[in-house]
Amino acid sequence: MKRIDTAYIDGKFTALHGTEIFDLINPSNHEKIGEVVLGDKTDTQKAIAAAKTAFKTFSKTTVEERIEILGNLKRAVEKRENELIETMILEYGGTRQFCTMSFQNMLGSFEHMIETLRHFGFERKAGKTLVQMTSVGVVGIITPWNSSNSFICNKFATAVAAGCTVVVKPSEMSALQTQLIIECFHEAGLPDGVFNVVNGLGSVVGHEIVSHPDVAKISFTGSTHTGKMIAKGAVDSMKRVTLELGGKSPNIILEDADFKKAIPQAVFGAYMNSGQACIAPTRLLVPQSKLEEVNQLVKETVLQVVVGNPADENTHVGPMVSEKQYERVQSYIQLGLDEGAELLAGGTGKPEGLEDGNFVKATVFTNVRNDMRIAQEEIFGPVLSIITYQDEEDAVAIANDTEYGLAAYVTSADESRALKVASQIEAGRVCVNGFKHDPLAPFGGFKQSGVGREFGTYGLEEYLEPKSILI
Ligand code: NAD
Repeated sequence: MKRIDTAYIDGKFTALHGTEIFDLINPSNHEKIGEVVLGDKTDTQKAIAAAKTAFKTFSKTTVEERIEILGNLKRAVEKRENELIETMILEYGGTRQFCTMSFQNMLGSFEHMIETLRHFGFERKAGKTLVQMTSVGVVGIITPWNSSNSFICNKFATAVAAGCTVVVKPSEMSALQTQLIIECFHEAGLPDGVFNVVNGLGSVVGHEIVSHPDVAKISFTGSTHTGKMIAKGAVDSMKRVTLELGGKSPNIILEDADFKKAIPQAVFGAYMNSGQACIAPTRLLVPQSKLEEVNQLVKETVLQVVVGNPADENTHVGPMVSEKQYERVQSYIQLGLDEGAELLAGGTGKPEGLEDGNFVKATVFTNVRNDMRIAQEEIFGPVLSIITYQDEEDAVAIANDTEYGLAAYVTSADESRALKVASQIEAGRVCVNGFKHDPLAPFGGFKQSGVGREFGTYGLEEYLEPKSILI
């Protein structure tokens, strides 16, 4: 059993002032696998002070120096592949397939930021004016548990590229994974104070980072509810914020699509990361005339979905991260039944033989109305809703009838038709004919899915302050 009782401050593993202990529980069997001592306000202030001091010199590093650091970070992470993947599986129950992809994304964060830096203009002209893109300052990075280290890597890679220093507050449920990534970055030989981490609660460590005047920007990934609290808290010191929040993504299958291919893809997509993914296509929009065929294909596909031990190569759906999350998903499945949606697969309770962990049955509701709460609220579990539409216009209207706008998906035999539909959807990312990720393209939400963008040039600009010099 591991015990984590240090923060990482100013390049050192530092004894904590905080004393509260948080147990780390394996979500597959409820065994205690470790504990973490939580930092407090004093620990957080120390970390912010270290980042503030380091910023003075780090913000003056050259692009070449930053590229070298990013390369070192990537190589250090690469060396610990096995441990990083196994710890993700153990600590939050991510499936081996998903955790392997998440690890690749971690490496990609450094590669793509190097690529972005090579072409980035830190000095530009606007009219006759010189515009300097200057590092924003100390950045507070606050992350969730559902792919924890990939968020830390992406946000930190962007901060390094921008010449910013950081204080990270990861989810307390991700302490084992975080400890590994700290060790990687420590071995990469970063200048002291550039990367600081304090484990702790959102209401303590998170709150201190958000309210502290020496933090210039917050980069947050998490729920819309917390994102709103952070935005309110940040306004007093006028911090810049990037908020990557929740989603309820529509997946429109146009009637000319190959349903035999599109429907299984839609089901497996909805269950990505065991349904604990902000971009999961949880609303499947199909033509009314095709509903019977769709229901049949979905039923056949769900039979192939393996729910179980996340360490097994073949598992598609692992446990929910915590009992709290399990209960939340259960209550939504019950709500779906109460609202009158038709249960096509799964349902409440645990799958047979998996009673010891936070496992949820792969669940599908059909004949769902878009105004039902199961179609409007983020469930964050393996629960798919099938909704019918009359025509293309209706499909777009239903897709946009949500407070969220993170991702969307459109499938059609005719790419230009899909593109026309994609252009009308209110979401920060629309994937045409399949699930895609381009780490050089901006990623972020419309509406209540967030503020700002991550990745590539757009992501880098969020860590910079444009300064106009008029001569
Ligand atoms: P959460 O909002 O509960 O917590 C996220 C982080 O915020 C945690 O580290 C938490 O401790 C911290 N926090 C909580 N209260 C705080 C406060 N008052 N001040 C500062 N920090 C505080 O989210 P979660 O349950 O960990 O993660 C799941 C959510 O994250 C889902 O809603 C999901 O959609 C979202 N998410 C979004 C993206 C995206 O890129 N848009 C990606 C992954 C997850």
